[in-house]
Amino acid sequence: MTSTPKTKIDHVRLFLPGPVEVRPEILDAQTEWMIGHRSGEFANLYARMQPKLQKLFGTEQARVYIYTSSGSGVWESASRCAVRDDRKILHLTSGSFSERWAEVSQLNGKSVDVISADWGKAVKPEQLEEALKQDTYDAVAVVYNETSTGVLQPVPEYAEIVKQYDDTLFMVDMVSCFAGAPVHYDEWGLDVALTSTQKAFALPPGMAFGAVSDRVLARAEQIQFRGSYFDMLQMEKYHKKNNTPATPPISLMFAADRQLDDILEETIEARVARHQQMAEMTQEWATSVGFELFAEEGYRSPTLTTLSNTLNVPVSEMNAFLRERGMVVSNGYGAIKEKTIRIAHMGDCQPEHLEMLFEAIEDYLQQR
Ligand SMILES: *Cc1c(COP(=O)(O)O)cnc(C)c1O
Repeated sequence: MTSTPKTKIDHVRLFLPGPVEVRPEILDAQTEWMIGHRSGEFANLYARMQPKLQKLFGTEQARVYIYTSSGSGVWESASRCAVRDDRKILHLTSGSFSERWAEVSQLNGKSVDVISADWGKAVKPEQLEEALKQDTYDAVAVVYNETSTGVLQPVPEYAEIVKQYDDTLFMVDMVSCFAGAPVHYDEWGLDVALTSTQKAFALPPGMAFGAVSDRVLARAEQIQFRGSYFDMLQMEKYHKKNNTPATPPISLMFAADRQLDDILEETIEARVARHQQMAEMTQEWATSVGFELFAEEGYRSPTLTTLSNTLNVPVSEMNAFLRERGMVVSNGYGAIKEKTIRIAHMGDCQPEHLEMLFEAIEDYLQQR
């Protein structure tokens, strides 16, 4: 299992669906001198991030909270603050991440109903339409881009349906496709939209963003036990002062501030188009070398391509080969660990990085 790297490598580029490769400029931005989080400088940092975050979420109405946690913290926050004790939440599940959010709701004492699709498939809008006719829900929760399968759920279509129910809040996890797939918070009538830093946002892990509507805060007022650390009413109190209840990850905020500028400079439209282009490149290449595509046609993710491992590649052996060339991809998740290979092309990944990866995988396939 040896190969001669063509060029000297200084690190391993991650084609993993999180954490992803982070650009050196972003890594450097984290090394700013510390500031106190109750200082005016901090309030300025917080305040200048807001309009940029709102722009990426596509909202003028919602505020965006900064969570000192990975994405899972916002799940807990949303489930606790949006669903009353004697009501129910409907989760649409189609893979491991959406299943975990449903479990988080349940572990926080909420009554959960689930509509599930087979892994690799999307939950169809008609299924949601039917469920909302049958029963009343305080909230519907979906994962836009299911990271275990590479399926992009039809969120705009779900939104049209949920909009017809005034008391049903709509909550969307966008962790692995934020700014890589279209996001229109206001137009879609969302109530919670969340992302964390280490995936499509292309920062190191440790922070998450939650865009939250007035309707959620009104709902939270009706719930007695919302927890403490992730209580949105508490976050709102501090948000109004451009601050956070507890000490935030200031270094990550410096890096995020820089990344927000860079994303807006690229433009959201160009970023979404670049991801679509990389998805199509990956799909074309994968089928040309003999893999099949795991995700259902019409619902394939722009940020993550899941290959059915029809060539029976031992993924850990292939990764050992790739590592020597400074790259690594991901095996499957959970139940489909050995049967699939996941190639993430999210964040600041560029088409030329993928070309380098494809060449290396072809070299591996040839010599094995
Ligand atoms: C990774 C991920 C999360 C959250 O995971 P954390 O490790 O808590 O950031 C949530 N949803 C999706 C779709 C993810 O891919």
